[in-house]
Amino acid sequence: VVARLPLIAGNWKMNLDHQQAIAFVQKLHWALKEAKHLDDSVEVGIFPPFTDLRTVQTLLDADKIPFALGAQDLSTKDSGAYTGEVSGAFLSKLNCAYVIIGHSERREYHGETDEVVAAKVQAALRHSLVPVICVGETLEQREESGPTAISVGQLEVALEGVPADADIVVAYEPVWAIGTGQVASPEQAQEVCAKLREVVAAKLGPDAGQRTRVLYGGSVKSANIASFMREPDVDGALVGGASLVVDEFAAIIRYQK
Ligand code: PEP
Repeated sequence: VVARLPLIAGNWKMNLDHQQAIAFVQKLHWALKEAKHLDDSVEVGIFPPFTDLRTVQTLLDADKIPFALGAQDLSTKDSGAYTGEVSGAFLSKLNCAYVIIGHSERREYHGETDEVVAAKVQAALRHSLVPVICVGETLEQREESGPTAISVGQLEVALEGVPADADIVVAYEPVWAIGTGQVASPEQAQEVCAKLREVVAAKLGPDAGQRTRVLYGGSVKSANIASFMREPDVDGALVGGASLVVDEFAAIIRYQK
């Protein structure tokens, strides 16, 4: 049995400018340090807006804060005449370890198809970024095709051409649970996360299936995190709203204590 390091990832979305980001990261660091709850039993990832990344990188570096840094999106292209786009090359240069790809808000508001998501996964891997591949169904889709079909289909396309030894993270985020307060049950999360692990194993091999972290996302709070983490195939959480509240996010990170 492979032990997978739990990952608690905070997706800030379009919140906190670079000055607010400094204050937030410092407060979060203090909150965890004070409680002596910064150890290597859990990885903390933060995903600020692009314009905060350089500032946050400098702060993490200067104060030796052990949070992993990630971006919320990247371009399918590496450089060139693509106005407004951000290259994975720039993100790796800023010490980003991760990049979120295919968040339901990108799929819904920016028309990202499964094929665009797959191209972004390839772009991330070209630049040694770990893609956090988001999949999940709407309520309508769940009623129509069951709990797993949509996520499985999305992940299969995203993993097209991904090498067996690639380091990836999968996030199951049912659209009906994102920002709605309507959280999935731990059993519902487990059912889909287990299925997604099977997809990783089928596509990339059994080692990748064992090694790859599968997160749950959708209205995760300090009050429900432990119930998700007890599930065998849930290896962490992608947290939106609650990642913007220092004490709440710190409490989510400390779910074991
Ligand atoms: C998200 O958008 O990734 C998310 C899970 O949001 P929330 O935690 O606010 O539901």
